[in-house]
Amino acid sequence: MIARKIQMVDLGSQYQNIAKEIDESVLAVVRSTQYINGPAVKSFNKNLADYLKVNHVMGCANGTDALQIALMALGLKRGDEVIVPAFTYAATAEVIGLLQLSPVMIDVDPDTFNTTAELIEKAITPKTKAIVPVHLFGQSTDMEDILALAKAHNLFIIEDNAQAIGADYTFKDGTVKKTGTMGHVGCTSFFPSKNLGAYGDGGAMFCNDDEIADNLKMIANHGQKKRYYHDVIGVNSRLDSIQAAILDIKLRHLDQYSSNRAQVAKTYDEGFESVAALQTPKRQHNSTHVFHQYTLRVKNGKRNELQQYLAEKEIPSMIYYPIPLYKQDAFKEFYNSSQGLPATEILSDQVISLPIHTEMKSDVQGYIIDSVKSFFK
Ligand SMILES: *Cc1c(COP(=O)(O)O)cnc(C)c1O
Repeated sequence: MIARKIQMVDLGSQYQNIAKEIDESVLAVVRSTQYINGPAVKSFNKNLADYLKVNHVMGCANGTDALQIALMALGLKRGDEVIVPAFTYAATAEVIGLLQLSPVMIDVDPDTFNTTAELIEKAITPKTKAIVPVHLFGQSTDMEDILALAKAHNLFIIEDNAQAIGADYTFKDGTVKKTGTMGHVGCTSFFPSKNLGAYGDGGAMFCNDDEIADNLKMIANHGQKKRYYHDVIGVNSRLDSIQAAILDIKLRHLDQYSSNRAQVAKTYDEGFESVAALQTPKRQHNSTHVFHQYTLRVKNGKRNELQQYLAEKEIPSMIYYPIPLYKQDAFKEFYNSSQGLPATEILSDQVISLPIHTEMKSDVQGYIIDSVKSFFK
């Protein structure tokens, strides 16, 4: 048996390994009294921009705000259609509805869990104004054709990069770009369990265009460019200095964290190779995978029984996501077919995510693998 309780994400051990640096940086902010938009925020925005090779990074209060501010900054109007995958976290579609735009929910590829240019193209109408691809579970959506499609139809692309920070996408000509830097605006979340997680809430928007960057900044700051002169209705959304200082340190470890996660994923893949009922996560050939989640498909109809079985062995697991967005009361008005989206329906019944994080111990992972295998014996 494993002495310590197994967790989906072990934030405690991760902190212990960098505790000295983190403690010093937090105290430095406390002592500086520059709690709002202080040097720590400027430093982190700059360092993240350098890491992502993008012109502008603007921290904000959380990932949901980042998506909302992006939609506001692009000047979308009530009733405009925004295409979004139905197999995602609710926040992606929620902000579209909140702004009285119309979320048009589409299906995903059942193997990569991401949407595709083909699925998007079918959903484009004269009212379509934007697409929000979600780089789900840690690998990039296949962006090249989507970018071309957006260009041809004059559509904005807002990338929901909350789960894939650090992943690389390779274009046919060999150009490599970080997820979140390919569309008009990239959005991310620093929720503690995300791949680059703060010790509280946080988020950021990335973009290359100076004009869009000005709009994002203005909207996040009550619609003002000059203090007390409000040009548009905005919001108040800031990344606080303490979180920025923490993130600045964790950013230095991000590539190591991504490779630790990839190693855990590889060990799971090998462990489950012989289990016919399980489909291990398929890799998008032109993207690296930073494994925000390690998500299996249970193909013999026993997903819920597996989860129960693991719970009895004190192994946590999660279902991301159990109910397609269009079946949620909040989103029903945006979906007027009784058909459902085939891959989203299947995935809702089949997916299960296992513990994965940066400090996984091999004995713990061995126990998880053996337990999953023993269920299928
Ligand atoms: C976490 C997440 C968000 C929202 O981020 P918050 O910081 O919690 O607001 C949005 N989209 C996806 C895909 C996410 O995983």
